[in-house]
Amino acid sequence: MKRIAIIFLLAFAWSFSSMAQRTIIWCGSLIDGIADEPQKNMTIVVEKNRISSVEKGFTKPGNNDKLIDLKTKTVTPGWMDMHVHLEFETNPNRYLENFTQNPADYAFKSVKFADVTLMAGFTTVRDLGGSGVNISLRNAIARGDIKGPRVFTAGKAIATTGGHADPTNGYRKDLMGDPGPREGVANGPEECRQAVRQRYKDGSDLIKITATGGVLSMAKNGKNPQFFDDELEAIVQTAKDYGFKVAVHAHGAEGMKRAIRAGVNSIEHGTFMDDEAIALFKQYGTWYVPTITAGRSVGDSALIPGYYPAVVVPKAIETGPQIQQTFAKAYKAGVKIAFGTDAAVFQHGKNWLEFGYMIEAGMKPMDAIKSATINAAELLGEKENLGSIEAGKLADIVAVDGDPLKDAKVFGKVVFIMKDGVVYK
Ligand SMILES: [Zn+2]
Repeated sequence: MKRIAIIFLLAFAWSFSSMAQRTIIWCGSLIDGIADEPQKNMTIVVEKNRISSVEKGFTKPGNNDKLIDLKTKTVTPGWMDMHVHLEFETNPNRYLENFTQNPADYAFKSVKFADVTLMAGFTTVRDLGGSGVNISLRNAIARGDIKGPRVFTAGKAIATTGGHADPTNGYRKDLMGDPGPREGVANGPEECRQAVRQRYKDGSDLIKITATGGVLSMAKNGKNPQFFDDELEAIVQTAKDYGFKVAVHAHGAEGMKRAIRAGVNSIEHGTFMDDEAIALFKQYGTWYVPTITAGRSVGDSALIPGYYPAVVVPKAIETGPQIQQTFAKAYKAGVKIAFGTDAAVFQHGKNWLEFGYMIEAGMKPMDAIKSATINAAELLGEKENLGSIEAGKLADIVAVDGDPLKDAKVFGKVVFIMKDGVVYK
C-alpha cells in the first residue's frame, strides 16, 4: 500500500514538473552569436535557467507559459566583458583611497558597480584583479543576494616586486612593507608557484599577472618586461594543474612575447605589439583583449591637471590613444579577439562604448558582437554554457532598441536583460 502511494506521489511530482512554466521570447531580429546574419521573426523558449529551443516564427505560448514580446527589438546573447575591476572606479582621489578605504567600503561600492554592469546588458564578466573582495562579490551574486553579472574572478593579480600589480607601489617606506606571494607579489619560479596556489586557496577562478609595466601604477615604466621566462613557465604550469586560465596584462612587446611563448591564454591591452608579437598570437592561438575604452578614457583624463599623479601622466598620454590603432592592426591580421574594456579605469556601465570603438577601428559589427559573446565564452572555457542562443545554453539574453549592426549607439539602448533565466529588465 505504502509503495503504491509513493509511486503515485512520484508520478504526480513528475507530471507537475513537466508542466512547469516556460518563457516564450518573440524576437523581431535574432543575432544568435553563431550565424553571420541576423534571423528575422524567431522564438526562444526558456525552461528554468536554460534555453530549451530556438524556433522559426512566433511560437504560440501555452496556458502555463509566460510571453515576452520583443517583436520590434534585436535580441542577442548576453554580453560578456573579459576585463573589468568591480571593486573600484576612477576618480581624482583614487590614489588616496588605498589609505582611507576599508575592505567593507570596497565591498559596498562593488555592489553598485556590479548592478550597473548587469543593467548595461553585460551578463558575464571576468574581474581581472582587486583586493579579494571580488571573490566575495562573485559569491554574493551567485547566491542571489545581490544583483550583478556572472563573475569569473582572478582575485588578487600577481606581479613581481615593484611590478604593475604590487599593491604597495609608491607608498612611504614604512608602509611599503615586503608583500609576497600571499599578497600577489612573486619573484622566482618557487614564489610564482606559491602565488598561483594561494589564488586557488583564495577561491579565484583564473590567474591574472602583470607581465609588463602599466599606466596607472606609481612606477616610471609603463611597458618594460616584469617576469622572466622561468617565472612565466612556473605560473602557466601551476595554473594548468588547478584548471586556471592565465590572463596577462602587457603593454610592451617583449613582455607580451615571453608570456605568449609560455602558453598564457589572453593578452590584455597589447598596446605596443609588433609584427613578431602578432605572428606569435596567431601561432599560439592566444586571445587578444584590447580594452580600447580604457585607453581612450585614460588618455583624456591625463589632460585634466591633477587627475593623475605626475608619474602616471606621460604614460597615459603615450599609451592610451595607441590601443585603438593596435587593435585595428591586430584585427586585420586575424588575431583572435575577445571583448574587454577595463571598466573601473572608466565608469562602470559604459562597457558598451567598446563596441563603437571596435567598429570605428574597422571591425565588422557582427564580429564585435561575437567577440563579446561566443569568443568570450571560448576564452573562458565556457562554450558549453555561454555565448550563444542555442538549445542547452544558459538563458543569458539581451535585447536592444534598433539595429546594432547599423548604429553602434544602439548598444547603449538595452531594453531587455535576462540572466540565468531571470528577467532583470
Ligand atoms: Zn585592468
